[in-house]
Amino acid sequence: MKEQPSVITSRSIPKSRRALIGLTTEQLREKSVELGFEPFRGKQLAEWLYQKRARTFDAMTNLPAAFRDALSANHTIGWPEVVSTYSADDGTAKFLVEYADGNRVECVLLPYEDRAGVCLSSQVGCAAGCVFCATGAMGFTRNLTPGEMVAQALVAEDRLVTQSSSATTRLSHVVFMGMGEPLWNLENVIQAVYLLNEEMKIGMRGITVSTVGIPPAMRTLAEEKLQITLAVSLHAGTEEVRRQLVPVARKYPMESVFAAADRYFDLTGRRVTYEYVLLGGVNDTKEEATALAAWLRGRPAHVNLIPWNPARSISEFKAPHREAVARFRNVLESVQIPVTQRFERGRGIDAACGQLAIGKRRR
Ligand code: SF4
Repeated sequence: MKEQPSVITSRSIPKSRRALIGLTTEQLREKSVELGFEPFRGKQLAEWLYQKRARTFDAMTNLPAAFRDALSANHTIGWPEVVSTYSADDGTAKFLVEYADGNRVECVLLPYEDRAGVCLSSQVGCAAGCVFCATGAMGFTRNLTPGEMVAQALVAEDRLVTQSSSATTRLSHVVFMGMGEPLWNLENVIQAVYLLNEEMKIGMRGITVSTVGIPPAMRTLAEEKLQITLAVSLHAGTEEVRRQLVPVARKYPMESVFAAADRYFDLTGRRVTYEYVLLGGVNDTKEEATALAAWLRGRPAHVNLIPWNPARSISEFKAPHREAVARFRNVLESVQIPVTQRFERGRGIDAACGQLAIGKRRR
């Protein structure tokens, strides 16, 4: 595992061309006053950024031309370039977006009949190196700023409004489960959560932050007392198998992960979700299921089983047999642990779990 760099915040982006996406309404009001305009212009600007998803200053037609000129002299909007969009028959759309520095990440829109979600990336690449993950194979490049994460949600919502057949035009759910380990970019992820909630009006309970299991950061997140869901990617019932799949488990044993998850529940009242990618013949055995059931018995927990999608770049794993999935589920349910099985979407476009991976543009 690589050492994580210090957090990159919007404060560290050169002031001269700082992106506006990422600033709160209050900050935009202050910006407006700073530039010699009334505070309510900042509120109008926030609406253009977060509700109307404006991509140019010219589109902000109710703002005075002088205000728009002053803004554009010192700021960009912060809308990333959408390099490509892949669509699946089920409506899932995967976007490859590129930021000003040439780094690229992917995010995925998941539209349903009456709601819509987006899976966001929190880092360019990932240092966790989970052996089954296409992102992990890329290594780590840098953290994303809050605005860069929120911009992914804006790109997805824009697609929802303009092209999706879904009845809804607003995102209702956000999961930080794309590229990166969100808790290694915690300060920025928390700021992004507030922006999604306050500026894009996405309910806290519709937001999920996932982690591979970093107990110190899980405790820090718990202290925020947000009403979001914490999802812990466990992927094993025994320490031995978990260490094979998730290198970070060598540093943080399961005992410490569960203790931090319990703390999260104590401080937030939110039941923790445990994510479990089922790899055929590796962690889908009765032994792993029994061990997992023993850990979770009596805990306020929910397990999300994700049968493995073979990613093109990682060929050593195979999908679990249907019978193995059913057996795994039965073992957990026999001790009253609620289990869901993730409905697989976007498979044809490599938008399923563990399949997001993209390099940086050559410049
Ligand atoms: S599964 Fe998540 S934490 Fe693990 S390497 Fe992939 S992106 Fe990183």
